[in-house]
Amino acid sequence: MIPVNRCLPACLAALTLLSAAPGASSATRAAQLDAPDLILYHGTIHTLDADDSTVQAIAVARGRIVARGTDREMLELATPTTRRIDLEGRAATPGLIDSHAHIADAGVGMLYHVSLSDAHTVGEVVARVRAGVAKLEPGQWLQGEGWDEGKLAEHRYVTAADLDAASPRNPVWLLHTTGHYGVANTLALREAHIEPASKDPPAGTIDRDAAGRPSGVLKESAMDAVVNLIPPPTPAQRRAGILASIELMHREGMTGVKDPDIDRATWDAYAELLRQGALAAHVCVLWHAGSTLESARSALAEIVQHPRPPASLGEGRLVSCGAKIYMDGSGGARTGWVYADWNRHFSEVDTGNRGYPAEDPQVYRAMVRLFHHAKVHVGTHAVGDRAIDWVVDSYAQALTEEPISGLRHSIIHANIPTDHALEVMATLQKRYDAGYPELQAPFMWWIGDTYAGNYGPERSPRLVPLRTMVSRGIRFSGGSDNFVTPLPARYGLWASLERETLQGTYGAHPFGTAEAVDVHAALRSYTRWAAPQLFLERQIGSLEVGKDADVAVWESDPYTIPGRDLKNLRCALTVFEGKVVYDAHASAGERR
Ligand SMILES: [Zn+2]
Repeated sequence: MIPVNRCLPACLAALTLLSAAPGASSATRAAQLDAPDLILYHGTIHTLDADDSTVQAIAVARGRIVARGTDREMLELATPTTRRIDLEGRAATPGLIDSHAHIADAGVGMLYHVSLSDAHTVGEVVARVRAGVAKLEPGQWLQGEGWDEGKLAEHRYVTAADLDAASPRNPVWLLHTTGHYGVANTLALREAHIEPASKDPPAGTIDRDAAGRPSGVLKESAMDAVVNLIPPPTPAQRRAGILASIELMHREGMTGVKDPDIDRATWDAYAELLRQGALAAHVCVLWHAGSTLESARSALAEIVQHPRPPASLGEGRLVSCGAKIYMDGSGGARTGWVYADWNRHFSEVDTGNRGYPAEDPQVYRAMVRLFHHAKVHVGTHAVGDRAIDWVVDSYAQALTEEPISGLRHSIIHANIPTDHALEVMATLQKRYDAGYPELQAPFMWWIGDTYAGNYGPERSPRLVPLRTMVSRGIRFSGGSDNFVTPLPARYGLWASLERETLQGTYGAHPFGTAEAVDVHAALRSYTRWAAPQLFLERQIGSLEVGKDADVAVWESDPYTIPGRDLKNLRCALTVFEGKVVYDAHASAGERR
């Protein structure tokens, strides 16, 4: 069941009355307010409101915050049935929001695929494939994901030749951690009809060895030939995947997420979980719009069937936010669309390779126009500087032609924006409530060694320029791009401050620290700045009266611990819409 009867207009009216009459006795207050069913007290509760204020306690009724203040003020509101939770001085924040995480796909991967994100050598990858294949019937597909040559001792791609002996009778597909390339074994290449004579498809690359034979590595659209052969997960597997990801979110104090690039099957899985009352997070989705006008039209036909934000299903639990388009590839695969040649191993130049757009740039512009005209929010994946410029200029053009405010068109990843792009973002935000970067600080860490090697010495310091954004008044939101980097938001908070790579292949700080921000900005990017990108700013993103009681309680105070310790910030308790969904102490068998 979906709770429909929460803080009603009457309760808000009572609060208005309360603020108009500050002298009202506590007894009157209790009568006027919905009696709280939950009070969190004796805390250091960072509300992330406009004043960044901190309170001791909050009172919650029917999933929403009905009052906040001192311990005394809140405890006076308690009735005999009110549950009181003593935070024992701990810090709390709003539940954290990830503005870009593929939690449905990542959950399926976590449960059903071979995990390669912690493999240190090509041999380890091969051994895991061998072990996985041993559990399959001949002919069944083996899927794995998370490998990254930047983390492998050999510092090279995994190839078909590596995999063939381990899996002679099962086709294998191992997706790279960026999701923009992967490796197939020879059997899979054969089933996909990829041969030495095969030409690169538009906006795709078949990687080749010195003799010109396919190496097994397929980039961007070249992956489709293999991926389209793999049987999709079942509806039950999709639902289980989503639940596994949400459970992980709760363990990390996270209660909201934007899942970009979904299709009908994933929507159905979310909607079914909502019907079952099992969707314990605020999820906003972007529909995959493909790379042609026809695919964009069919995405639009799907989008118009669902409530339009800020309307949603389940009171903000499931929001059909808009459409996702790709402008270019990846900084990992050196397929992002850039102005100057990509680098290799930091100082080398990948001569002649400036990446490529994911579709004809004019087609992209027409797709943006189509959605904008239909008043649909667009999120565009843009990694390279040239791609980002094209995207912000396309938004500006659409908005000038048709000045519709509040669609919040976004630039997903926005790795190395030019000065021009930053200027346009600032203007679009001010004028049209659009042009928001949805960034991933953890790229600098988890794939930072591969990234530094490819972006090279000139571009690296410009990567994820958070401080410049803050100084120019550009609002940005944080995220993991999970499965690309691990889901816990603490890594993003930490990376926003520390900008450190995982391995230090090109030094610990190839991106420099000039663009680091403080914890206040970092935390805002996972709370009050992220909420509007889910069209849920009236419900989530700060702890204020009338908003959902989504609260994360931490074992240490993010505002006072050294920045480097944010990486290991431990969650003590997570509350979603007034219900405890994670309690570290209960899990450990100890009850506060
Ligand atoms: Zn993504």
